[in-house]
Amino acid sequence: MRLGPFDTSEIKVRQGGSGRAAGGLGCGTIVIALIAAVVFGVDPSQTLQMLEGIQQQQSQIGPTSTQTNVTADDLCNASAYANEACAALASLNRTWAPVFARNNLRFEQPELVLYPSGPVATRGCGNASSAAGPFYCPADMGIYLDTTFFDQLARMSGARISGSQGNFARLYVIGHEYGHHIQNITGINQQLRAAQRANPQAANRMQVAMELQADCLAGVWAGKNRDLLEAGDLEAGMMAASSIGDDTLSQGSGRAINPENFTHGSSQQRMEALRRGLESANMAECNVYIQAI
Ligand SMILES: [Zn+2]
Repeated sequence: MRLGPFDTSEIKVRQGGSGRAAGGLGCGTIVIALIAAVVFGVDPSQTLQMLEGIQQQQSQIGPTSTQTNVTADDLCNASAYANEACAALASLNRTWAPVFARNNLRFEQPELVLYPSGPVATRGCGNASSAAGPFYCPADMGIYLDTTFFDQLARMSGARISGSQGNFARLYVIGHEYGHHIQNITGINQQLRAAQRANPQAANRMQVAMELQADCLAGVWAGKNRDLLEAGDLEAGMMAASSIGDDTLSQGSGRAINPENFTHGSSQQRMEALRRGLESANMAECNVYIQAI
């Protein structure tokens, strides 16, 4: 996907502060680990083990100092992947703001929080794991991105997920996190959390619905920018989506498939959700996943 030029005035971006070590892998990690794992032929359980290893190493290194005087330009020009993430955010803002305006909905930009390898202190979600990869914090509207994460993945995949080859896979992940932001500012996220509290037995099924809607919304972004898509992007996105379902993860880790434990949806469901968004380019089409909630 050719994102083209952007100006840092179009986006909100800041450097993340370091925090105490925290456990767990974020949904962005699972997404990207499995893209690397299955699309590029690495065993998913191995990939996740490697990510956990990176996380432990970083936890041992501990918090790193944070510069406070860096500008948005500094942050976005710090690396090719940081620049790509900033360009993606500008494109996502340009795509979603008019959709909200047309529907008389209040729009607010998310903030891209680029942080160095190590634990990160979020403003609204406590401390997060350095290996969380891209994740979204609803309380502070931040899309948190460890700036070395895509480099680590490029190394792990033997550079197969680096550069233009991994472009759409990485953008799909950022579009997915932005989808969680859309869910937040439209109130869907709050409704879902209330519904989960009211019906804990259905909490996991509801979480799957939210993840699939975020996949669909990532697809809407790509679908509204068809002119920027390059040959192979659609296929790469579909292959990524088909490769990162919870069933693939379960098989890769040697566990039996158990739909009750799914939190992101099956490969087939994710592929279908991305396709639905891409082909319709219509936000309303993505409501199908949450209608039953
Ligand atoms: Zn997610």
